[in-house]
Amino acid sequence: MNILVLNCGSSSVKYQLIEVDSRKLLARGSVERIGMSGATLSNIRHDGDEIKIAGEIVDHNSAIEYILAVLLSKNHGVISDRSDIHAIGHRVVHGGETFSASVLITEDVVKALRDNIELAPLHNPHNLRGISACDTIIPGTPQVAVFDTAFHQGMPRRAFLYGIPYALYSQYRIRRYGFHGSSHRYVSERAAELLGRDLADVKLITCHLGNGCSMAAIKGGTSIDTTMGFTPLEGLLMGTRSGDIDPSVILYIMGKEGLALNEANTLLNKHSGLQGISGISSDMREIIAEMKNGDKKATYAFTVFCYRITKYIGAYAAAMGGLDAVVFTGGIGENSADVRQQTCEGLEFLGIAIDDAVNRSPDLEKNISAAGSRTSVLVIPTNEELVIALDTVTIVRASKQPQRAAGSA
Ligand code: ADP
Repeated sequence: MNILVLNCGSSSVKYQLIEVDSRKLLARGSVERIGMSGATLSNIRHDGDEIKIAGEIVDHNSAIEYILAVLLSKNHGVISDRSDIHAIGHRVVHGGETFSASVLITEDVVKALRDNIELAPLHNPHNLRGISACDTIIPGTPQVAVFDTAFHQGMPRRAFLYGIPYALYSQYRIRRYGFHGSSHRYVSERAAELLGRDLADVKLITCHLGNGCSMAAIKGGTSIDTTMGFTPLEGLLMGTRSGDIDPSVILYIMGKEGLALNEANTLLNKHSGLQGISGISSDMREIIAEMKNGDKKATYAFTVFCYRITKYIGAYAAAMGGLDAVVFTGGIGENSADVRQQTCEGLEFLGIAIDDAVNRSPDLEKNISAAGSRTSVLVIPTNEELVIALDTVTIVRASKQPQRAAGSA
C-alpha cells in the first residue's frame, strides 16, 4: 500500500510517499513559502534524483496539486496514476482530550478537529486545510489523522493537572497534553525490540532532542509523564523556546519591558532557549563549535540544555520506580555524542554509564552503555513518518473489513 504522509504547516507542506509493506520510501519533499513570493517545491526520489521547482503556490490546494504533479511526472515521478496513492496520513498536532489514538477522518472527526483549534491555533487550522485540499483533489482516498498528543493521553491525572483552579481545566481544558507522541512511541517500541524485552515489562525514558525537545517516561508502553505541557513551550530548553520557567518571570518582564501578550509569546517561543542564552544560534552544532572555541555564553547554553535533561532523567526514574533504558533521538539526540555524554554524567547511581568509543562511533542505531552497566543507553533514529504511514494502513485496512452483524458468532 502506498501512503502519502503529509505534515501541513502555515506556509509549508512536508511529504513522504511510503510503500508500507516493503517499508520503502518512494519520494519525499517539501513545499515552502506557500502564499508568498518565491514558493518552491523540492522533491527527492528514492534513487537520489532531486528536483526543485519554483511556482505560484497560492494555498494548500495548489501545494497538494504541485506535489501530485511531481509524484506523477514522467521524469521525476514514482507513480503513474493518482489512484496509486492508496491513503493519506496526516500529522495533526493537537487531538485534545478527544483523540487517544489515530483515527479515520470523517465529517465528525473534522468537526472535532475544529473544536480543538483553540488548543493549537498555530497548527490545527493548517492541518485541516491539508485535509480539505486532499478531499477536493483526490476525493474518495481515505485519510487518517495521527496526533502528536495521542500517545500521551494515557497519562494519569496527577501528571497532567496543573496547580491552578480545577474549573480552568473543566472549562478550558487547560492541562498537560505533551507532543512528539509519534516519535516517543516509535523509539520506545524499537527500544524494546533492541533490548529483546516485552514493551509491557520495560521502563523507558525517551529523549526527543531536535529544534523542539521533549522527554517521556514510558512504563509498560504507556507514556505516564512528559515534559511538554499545554503547549510545546514547557519542559526542556530548546532551540528558541525557554522550556520550564517560573511563570512570574513572564509577568515581571511584561511589566519591565511593557510587552504585550503576543510579544511575550514571541520572546519565550522564538528568542529564548539556546538562541536566547548564547546570543549566537539556536543550532546545537554552532553552540558546540563556539563552546569549543571558549565562548562563555555558548557554554552556558550547552550546560543548561544538558542539565535539564539529566534532571528529568532522575525525576522520571522516580516517577516510574525504576529504569531499564534511556533513549536518545531527534537531530541532537541522534548526532551529538557531546550532549549524550554530558547528559549521562553523574548518573552512575541509576546504573547509567556510557562507553565513550561506542558513543562516538558513526553507527546510527546503537547501544552506547558501558559493558556491565545496569541501565541501557540507546540511540535510535526516529521515524515519525513511518509511524503515520503504518497507523494509516492499519486503520484503513480495519475500516474495509466487513462489519459483523450484531449477534453473529
Ligand atoms: P526538527 O525538530 O526541526 O525536526 P531536528 O530533529 O532535525 O529538528 O534537529 C535539529 C537539531 O539537531 C539542530 O539543533 C541541529 O543543530 C542538531 N544537530 C544536527 N546534527 C547535529 C550534530 N552532528 N551535532 C549536534 N547537533 C546536531
